[in-house]
Amino acid sequence: MSEHFDVLIVGAGLSGIGAAHHLQTALPDKTYAILEARDAIGGTWDLFRYPGVRSDSDMHTLGYRFRPWTEAKAIADGPSILGYVRATAAEAAIDEHIRFHHRVTRAAWSSEQARWTVEADLPDGSTTMLTCGFLLMCSGYYRYDDGYLPAFPGIGDFRGLVVHPQHWPADLDYAGRRVVVIGSGATAVTLVPAMAETAGHVTMVQRSPTYILPMPAEDAIATRLRALLGDRRGYAVTRWKNVLMMTAFYKLSRRRPDMIRGWIRKLTIKQLPAGYDVDTHFKPAYNPWDQRLCLVPDGDLFKAIRDGRASVVTGRIATFTERGLRLESGAALEADVVVTATGLQLLALGGVELAVDGRPVRLPETMAYKGMMLSDVPNFAFTIGYTNASWTLKADLVSEFVCRVLGYMDAHGYQVCVPVNDDPDVTGQPLLNFQAGYVLRSIDKFPRAGSRAPWRLSMSYPRDVVTLRHGKIDDGSIRFSRLDRAGHRETGDEFANQA
Ligand SMILES: Cc1cc2nc3c(=O)[nH]c(=O)nc-3n(C[C@H](O)[C@H](O)[C@H](O)COP(=O)(O)OP(=O)(O)OC[C@H]3O[C@@H](n4cnc5c(N)ncnc54)[C@H](O)[C@@H]3O)c2cc1C
Repeated sequence: MSEHFDVLIVGAGLSGIGAAHHLQTALPDKTYAILEARDAIGGTWDLFRYPGVRSDSDMHTLGYRFRPWTEAKAIADGPSILGYVRATAAEAAIDEHIRFHHRVTRAAWSSEQARWTVEADLPDGSTTMLTCGFLLMCSGYYRYDDGYLPAFPGIGDFRGLVVHPQHWPADLDYAGRRVVVIGSGATAVTLVPAMAETAGHVTMVQRSPTYILPMPAEDAIATRLRALLGDRRGYAVTRWKNVLMMTAFYKLSRRRPDMIRGWIRKLTIKQLPAGYDVDTHFKPAYNPWDQRLCLVPDGDLFKAIRDGRASVVTGRIATFTERGLRLESGAALEADVVVTATGLQLLALGGVELAVDGRPVRLPETMAYKGMMLSDVPNFAFTIGYTNASWTLKADLVSEFVCRVLGYMDAHGYQVCVPVNDDPDVTGQPLLNFQAGYVLRSIDKFPRAGSRAPWRLSMSYPRDVVTLRHGKIDDGSIRFSRLDRAGHRETGDEFANQA
């Protein structure tokens, strides 16, 4: 017989460790395990090892609600974030619940048994089966095995080294060498100043510009609040301060894009040498928050440009050459090392194949309930963070909501919960409403969001706090039912009311 748990969590990254913490705190009697494909805790923050790797949102909102971030730096480096996640797991003995080297490939729901059978691949090529009452996916949103690499012509001709940030060679020595970084996203703008510290020169080659905002690496108000109120209360106040500031900034960006564009432009001009061609290199064609904004701590990217250690070239790459790159403009760039900061490949639900009573679940045909459960998929939730705010704000709320649903089911003797959309007026919308290339490339493989609540994707943490932390569980869209002693399913009161 397979080992059984009340809850199985897939993924031991920031979200999986947070989910386990919420679960064992709110519902200490529940049994659970975390299935993790890799051999380490930390997900993103363990995988990415490129120079300078860091958060690009503040740690007071990227940190967990239940565990204060106490370091001085609000924009933290990757190893510090990894340390924070690992310490959370160790302190709460969550690490004892993790099964490493378990790559989940399939999960099949049986209505008769009201449980999932979860299949995982092991390193020796064998598979193992576990069962659970509730399956919580914390598997992130992208492929771990490979990043995204466009088909660059001539890449095989290049005599230097090509490196993707997702597979950074630990022994790469680029001191004094000519480096070209391809890309203009968060990874590129992180890498450029970090590599420029020792490289001969770093050139960032971008097809088109991105909004880049300088931000103090240390939050002086947070430090003062911590001194005044202590770690826990100071953190909570800073967290809300940052949430409200980011929410206001996001809303203003959407309502008055021209005003925000103008403001960012002024800030950018101030950071760059006099006469710098801001329009070519730092004036995006889209509005702020059509794609994620890149924050640069203490304006480090601009400083590297001012110091002449880094430069930006805007144009399309025609081909790699033996010595570097040639752009469509005809310009040639010589390089010893080319870093392809060209992005991620999105992957929905860790690539796990789902089936409900023998019927395969086709994700694009499902609709996401509250951005975290799937229509017609029982006892299942997934964690995808906000695109306009820190991931963990949503991850915490997903875990809290799942705990509330489980508590509600226990209190009423239900074993099954399933979101059902029977409103014909609800139309499908993309689950990530973001225009970035990496989203547009793969969003059709993801579940859909809906045009109205509770299917509509909320991009507002304050609103989600109201609905997910405090709102009604039995809102009519989740149907609850129980198994009778003979294993037959009885519909719950809520279901009966709807019928
Ligand atoms: C370089 C980089 C910087 C980022 N910076 C920020 C930032 O500043 N702010 C922000 O809000 N977000 C940021 N993000 C997004 C970031 O991924 C999230 O903040 C957060 O780390 C996601 O945590 P997670 O646990 O949900 O997913 P992940 O960190 O991706 O962890 C998922 C875990 O699940 C495991 N897994 C996946 N599939 C399976 C499977 N089938 N079976 C078993 N295990 C599986 C993986 O091995 C991994 O350990 C960044 C992302 C990247 C790549």
